[in-house]
Amino acid sequence: MESSTGILGGTFDPIHFGHLRLAEEMAAAIGLDRVRFIPAGQPPHRATPRTSSTHRLEMVRRAVAGNPRFVVDAREVQRPQPSYTVDTLTELRAELGGEQPLWLLLGSDAFLGLPSWHDWQRLFELANIAVAARPGGELGQTDAMAPPLQREVLKRKVADASAAGPAGSLLLRQMTPLEISATAIRHTLERHGSARYLLPDAVLDYIHEHQLYEHTK
Ligand code: ATP
Repeated sequence: MESSTGILGGTFDPIHFGHLRLAEEMAAAIGLDRVRFIPAGQPPHRATPRTSSTHRLEMVRRAVAGNPRFVVDAREVQRPQPSYTVDTLTELRAELGGEQPLWLLLGSDAFLGLPSWHDWQRLFELANIAVAARPGGELGQTDAMAPPLQREVLKRKVADASAAGPAGSLLLRQMTPLEISATAIRHTLERHGSARYLLPDAVLDYIHEHQLYEHTK
């Protein structure tokens, strides 16, 4: 059978256990052979990240080290201009061929914001999308979704990854709820509080080593 790849994009400012569990649980549920973590360079939807892409990339490297299924993909931070997910997926599709199932992994907050993404409907031509319910981002009822997104859900939803082909399907799944966010971690660290057990020790050590997220910086 064709191998399948998951793609987890994010600011990763910093990467934390919410991201890693999302990747781990989706990898198990879908049967992904690998998950590519793709830190965003200049995210088009949001404020400039607090931390340089070099540091964010290195934190992701440290977080995934030791898991042979998890790999870091630096293409977005290496691009000089803002990167759209649709461009990244187009590139990956060209590299991996048309047959391999690609799964874009999203938390529910990211999914609900999808209609504001550049050329978002074309994402479904390039990949499947798997959405993990995130605390506060309900997926049970479609009421919270913009009508164009509701239509995509009705058209594309599958109960199981085995019903999906290389692209075009949508899987909505519960994951272990972990109410961890990079924003809350940054705030804790700014106040010199403890962020231990919210993210891998190797990442926290790196943060302290480089004095990231300190108010005085
Ligand atoms: P911030 O607090 O700065 O907005 P974040 O913690 O949401 O950051 P991102 O880098 O924006 O992290 O998230 C990348 C992806 O990971 C998104 O699809 C997001 O929904 C998902 N994600 C982030 N945190 C969690 C979590 N705790 N549980 C499940 N999914 C998550």
